[in-house]
Amino acid sequence: MSTQFNESFRDSIGTIDQQGHRNYIHPQKPKGRYYNWRNLLSWFLLAFLFIAPFIKVNGIQFLLFNVLERKFSIFGFPFFPQDFHLFALSTGLSVIFIILFTVVFGRIFCGWLCPQTIFMEMIFRKIEYLIDGDRPAQIKLRNQEWNFEKIGKRLLKFVVFFAISFIISNVFFAYVNGSDKLLLYIKEGIGAHFKTFVILLIFTSVFYFIFAWFREQVCIIVCPYGRLQGVLLDNNSINVAYDFVRGESKSGRAKFKKGQDRDAEGFGDCIDCKQCVVVCPTGIDIRNGTQLECINCTACIDACDAVMDKIEKPRGLIRYASEDMIEKGIPFKFTTRLWFYTFVLTAVMALLTAMLIFRGSSETVMLRLAGQTFITEGNTISNFYEYKVINKGTHEIKDITLKLLSHKGNIESNSGDHRNIPVQEKTIGTLVVKIDKNDLKSSKERLKIGLYSEGKLIETFKVNFQGPVIIK
Ligand code: SF4
Ligand code: SF4
Repeated sequence: MSTQFNESFRDSIGTIDQQGHRNYIHPQKPKGRYYNWRNLLSWFLLAFLFIAPFIKVNGIQFLLFNVLERKFSIFGFPFFPQDFHLFALSTGLSVIFIILFTVVFGRIFCGWLCPQTIFMEMIFRKIEYLIDGDRPAQIKLRNQEWNFEKIGKRLLKFVVFFAISFIISNVFFAYVNGSDKLLLYIKEGIGAHFKTFVILLIFTSVFYFIFAWFREQVCIIVCPYGRLQGVLLDNNSINVAYDFVRGESKSGRAKFKKGQDRDAEGFGDCIDCKQCVVVCPTGIDIRNGTQLECINCTACIDACDAVMDKIEKPRGLIRYASEDMIEKGIPFKFTTRLWFYTFVLTAVMALLTAMLIFRGSSETVMLRLAGQTFITEGNTISNFYEYKVINKGTHEIKDITLKLLSHKGNIESNSGDHRNIPVQEKTIGTLVVKIDKNDLKSSKERLKIGLYSEGKLIETFKVNFQGPVIIK
């Protein structure tokens, strides 16, 4: 890298000034092809986020994370705490996926998919541009005395930001408690659910704090994913990067002068206009190299491309590229590490898919009643059980019965047979299993029992059965 690089950026972060005070960022409104694509993707993702909890598949909420009632649904597929292994596997899969993507494409997730970036840059920032104006107007407003204009704009921004934060809180409520409950609460009014309303206001205040004040600090200070970049990225990772070879050339960067032959004087293509700096929402200068603060939002690519168009130089002085691509001209290659990650990712995905496919529509747990021993009546030995059947499928399980498959004998339900179990619900009951003692080979036997719905076998499981010691 050129020796003219100013390394002072390493001594502090762009959002803190020399006195240790917060340096508020007022990024210039981005525009350009990447911003347009990000806009399109953001509208799609926001629409999905706001609509998903209100979509039902076979009566099941499309996405639900009801921790309190322990009901979960992913893409209309119900999950239960009993499926924790699938959750753990999905989480592991997501981590591997993110690592793989980060190794290859840097922080592409942060710039294009992260909810924090999308809410901040595509909703709150846009409203701020509408109310306060672009960067120069925002800086002027911040520095000016409190007057009618400043109070009016600050008040308007507070009301709009708080209202949007309240909507976001309600959507999160629908994700956690179910959209049916949310719509019911809205219908019944604040008076009937005042406690819930207060909780929603607390969450609204948190969202307001994040998007009105804390902002890029989430990415710079709080987000653990951002902190991982240092270990995940290497010279082969593709990131938003400044082409310092082209930008600095032999004599470094220099201001643009009309009619100057920059190539002859050895100047690079960077005209030090700082347009890439003023658009940056985290307040960094990408020309200093890859930094942890960079969320790969591409705003600097668009800004620099517009400058290159004006000075009639090729676009891409800032672009998606790896360190090796820029410095050594080496094209992107799939390293052994990437092959390994891809292999692990494929294996975990295959395992997860198989587990989902072969997951039954019901899960029965049957245990002998605590403290109860067997009862002998003539030749019949009886054991008492408690059972729980969970409907994990997408349709109601109708008319359930339990039958003994491994032994001759009877199952007598104390809780009534032939019950229906609605989707995501369970039924609990007690029953007695009676077996002729001549059919028992030992004092502890494993019984195979079948769960039937409308006469059709849907699940088999095993339970212990106790009897008297058999002396032969
Ligand atoms: S926008 Fe481009 S030309 Fe201007 S300072 Fe940044 S890198 Fe240099
Ligand atoms: S350096 Fe560029 S890509 Fe990174 S956060 Fe700033 S504007 Fe976005």
